[in-house]
Amino acid sequence: MHYRSTRGAAPILDFEAVTLAGLASDGGLYVPDSWPRFSHDQIAAMAGLSYVETAVRVCAPFVGDALTEAQLRDLLTRAYAGFSHAAVTPLVQLDDQHWLLELFHGPTLAFKDVAMQALGLLFETFLGRSGRHVTIIGATSGDTGSAAIHALAGRDGVEVFMLHPRGRVSDVQRRQMTTVLAPNIHNIAVEGNFDDAQALVKAMFNDADFAGRFALSAVNSINWARLMLQIVYYFYAAVRLGAPDRAISFAVPTGNFGDVFAGYVARHMGLPIDRLIVATNENDILHRALSAGDYSAGSVTPTASPSMDIQVSSNFERLLFDLAGQDGATTAAMMAGFESAKALAIPAEQRAAAAAIFDSARIDSDGMARAMRWAQDKCGQLLDPHTAIGLAAARASTATSPIVTLATAHPGKFGDAVERASGIRPTLPPRAQGLFDREERYVTLPATLAAVEAHIASIARPRAAA
Ligand SMILES: *Cc1c(COP(=O)(O)O)cnc(C)c1O
Repeated sequence: MHYRSTRGAAPILDFEAVTLAGLASDGGLYVPDSWPRFSHDQIAAMAGLSYVETAVRVCAPFVGDALTEAQLRDLLTRAYAGFSHAAVTPLVQLDDQHWLLELFHGPTLAFKDVAMQALGLLFETFLGRSGRHVTIIGATSGDTGSAAIHALAGRDGVEVFMLHPRGRVSDVQRRQMTTVLAPNIHNIAVEGNFDDAQALVKAMFNDADFAGRFALSAVNSINWARLMLQIVYYFYAAVRLGAPDRAISFAVPTGNFGDVFAGYVARHMGLPIDRLIVATNENDILHRALSAGDYSAGSVTPTASPSMDIQVSSNFERLLFDLAGQDGATTAAMMAGFESAKALAIPAEQRAAAAAIFDSARIDSDGMARAMRWAQDKCGQLLDPHTAIGLAAARASTATSPIVTLATAHPGKFGDAVERASGIRPTLPPRAQGLFDREERYVTLPATLAAVEAHIASIARPRAAA
C-alpha cells in the first residue's frame, strides 16, 4: 500500500514512513492510494472474531509488508492487553434502536487510547529497525496529550514534549499527563491558552534550524495510522449487530473529524453503513459545512465537551479530497482559499455526494443535558458530555437502522460537567483511582518560542550527524 498527500505535491510513502511522518511536506494529509475492499463473505467471516483478530484483518491491507501478519498480531495483542474490558470496545444496548460503543476502557479514559496504544508500539518497532530516535512535540487541550504520554512512556527511540495551557485543562487531564514519571516524558505548562501552545508547536516545526537539530515528529490526529486503527471498531460493532446482512448507522461526537472519517473509510471498504451522523456542540463548523456547504471558521466557544471545541477540523481535508475525485491540485487550491479567507463554500456536487452518507446535528448544552438525563433515567447509563452530544444527534436522526453512538469518554473524566448536567457525581474507575495521590512532574514556561526551545534543547537528543 502506498500513501499520497491530499495536496498532491509530497513524496509517495509506504506505511512505515507515513506512520513516522505525520503531516505531508506540502501541508496536506496522507491517504492510501486506493481503498481496500472486503467482500460480503469476508465481512461475514468476521463474526465472532476477537477485537485483536478483527483489527489484524482490517489493518493488514493498509500495513502491507511493513509488518508480517504475525508481527501485526503480536503488536495489536500487546496494545490492547492493558484495556480494562475483555471486549476492548464493548457494545451496550440502550433501547430498541440505540446502542453505545464504549471506547473508553484504555488507560486515560477516552477513545484516543484505542489508536494511540498501538501507535506507540508502531513507533517503537519502526524506529528500532533503523536505530533512529525522534523528538515528539505536541500541544494538547487534554485528551490527546494524556493518551500520547501513556502510549509512549518508556518507549525506546522517542522523547516526548507535551505542551498544555496552564490552568486550562481539567485536574484529571493534567494529572493523567504529569503523574507519568518515565524519563522520556516531559510536560510543559505554557502560560497562555491552547492556541498559544499550538502556535508554539507549529513555530518549532517551522524553525528550520531547530527542526534540523532535532528529528521532530508528531502524533496528532492527522497521523494516518491513528485513523486506520479507528476503522477497526466500526467493523467490530457492526458485525456484532448483523452486518454485512444489516446496515448500521453511527453517531459520532466530532471535533477534528478523525473518528468519523474512519467510519467513512469503513464504508468504502464494504461495511454496510447506512448513515454517519456527525454530532457537534456549539462549535458547529462541520454541521454548517455538511448541512449548508458553509465551511467557515469563527472563534471557539468553550463548552462542557472541550475535546470538540474546535475552530478548524483538520481531517475534513481528507473528505474534501475524496469528494473532489482524489485530485490533489483541486484540494490544494481549495485549502489555499480556506487558509487565506478562513472560509470555503463546498461546491454543490460535493455537498450532494457528502449528503448521501453524512447527516449532521448541532447540539447545544440543553440538548446535551437532556440526552444525559434520558440515558440515566431510561437506561441507567451515565454519559460523559461528548457522548451525550452524540446520543442527542442519534435520537434526532430519521434513520431507521440501528444506531451506534460512539461513547468517546468515561463520565468520570469530565466529572464536574456531568454533575452540573445530571446532578450525579460520576466516580473514576479503579484504574484511574489514586491519580490524586501521585507525584506530579512538569515545568511552567512563558509562551515564548525562545523559552520553550531552550528548555527542549537542554533535554532532547540531537539528530545523529549525517
Ligand atoms: C478527541 C475527542 C473527540 C473528537 O474526535 P475527533 O476525531 O477529533 O473528531 C470526541 N470526544 C472525545 C472525548 C475526544 O477526546
